Amino acid sequence: MSSYEPSRNETQHPSVLCLVETDDGTVIEASLRALSFARSLAQSSQARLIAALVGEIPEITASSLGSFGVDEAYAVTSTQLSPYAPVAWAQALRQLLVTCGATTLLAAGSDRGNEVMAHVGALTSEPMAANCFGATRIDDETVRLSRQRWAGSLIEDSLLRSTTALMTVAFDGVSSQRAEHATTTKISAFAPNLDESDGRTHVARWTGRSAGISLADARVVVGGGRGVGSADGFAALDELAELLGGAVGVSRAVTSLGWRPHNQQVGQTGTRIAPDLYLVSGISGATQHLAGCQSAKRVVAINTDPDAPIISRADYAVIGDLNQIIPALAAAIRERNSLTS
Ligand SMILES: Cc1cc2nc3c(=O)[nH]c(=O)nc-3n(C[C@H](O)[C@H](O)[C@H](O)COP(=O)(O)OP(=O)(O)OC[C@H]3O[C@@H](n4cnc5c(N)ncnc54)[C@H](O)[C@@H]3O)c2cc1C
Repeated sequence: MSSYEPSRNETQHPSVLCLVETDDGTVIEASLRALSFARSLAQSSQARLIAALVGEIPEITASSLGSFGVDEAYAVTSTQLSPYAPVAWAQALRQLLVTCGATTLLAAGSDRGNEVMAHVGALTSEPMAANCFGATRIDDETVRLSRQRWAGSLIEDSLLRSTTALMTVAFDGVSSQRAEHATTTKISAFAPNLDESDGRTHVARWTGRSAGISLADARVVVGGGRGVGSADGFAALDELAELLGGAVGVSRAVTSLGWRPHNQQVGQTGTRIAPDLYLVSGISGATQHLAGCQSAKRVVAINTDPDAPIISRADYAVIGDLNQIIPALAAAIRERNSLTS
């Protein structure tokens, strides 16, 4: 671990620091939501909003951050930070936190956000609260917060007492909203002081994108479970997802069988989704699966079993064989597309 100890400038204006994640050159939706959450916390405590972009930083214009009310941004770069290295990212954020005098550090409740923030907690010996959707600063060392527990089935109101408040933001608990008045964001470079040991773990990420869309952000998710029958059976779901401009999501039975990777799993131990449409087939609807899709606006279930739990959660249900219904749906969409093109 780096022995570098940055010093806090006590005269600095109070600030809220927010990690901003990017993918394919754009800020991910989960980070836009985290930024919106961070802005409202900053505004309510008369603090400045500072963004941290770490690792491979795309050409994100100051105006796009300014539209979310970011006062200042830091481009945090070092060879140790790319590809994604959780300990090095946490070490860099810890140093930036002190350098800019922030008393709150937020990140999206994404896999990466939660992982990095857990490491920051370990490095700073501060508690970290995951999946927050409400926060109010009470005094210098106390934040009142609301957060989701047990995959959102329990809401916790609690007090976070710490010198630096570390939080991640529940993806489906807040929306992304541009600031009423855009700010002029000043972007500065920040070079953290990292040891070789900080970059000991690099993670080659498979982004889990179907047709360029990540599961957590997808407006349409085509879900498939054990009822799909085989890894090859997912070709029809992949095609339908592409036609609908969505992503494929699966049940744990599917990942346990090795038919699809874990980062496509929806549920308590997978990704939590909040699409406009969840078209779910061959999935029974176990509580652990439903925990990951309870924020879906519309659920359309295809299942041979009319008594499957997913049917009572669905807005619309088709009782039938997905092997007939999914290809028929894809054919109908292709036909409609050919008529309109
Ligand atoms: C601690 C813990 C955490 C868990 N976390 C998760 C999680 O994050 N996500 C998750 O999904 N699960 C999770 N599970 C597992 C969960 O309990 C279920 O076992 C799992 O979701 C079942 O997957 P499934 O619905 O694909 O399979 P099944 O329960 O076997 O259901 C298959 C469904 O397909 C239907 N079907 C079969 N053939 C067809 C066909 N031809 N056409 C249409 N329908 C058909 C059947 O009627 C049935 O409803 C977790 C379990 C535990 C204990």
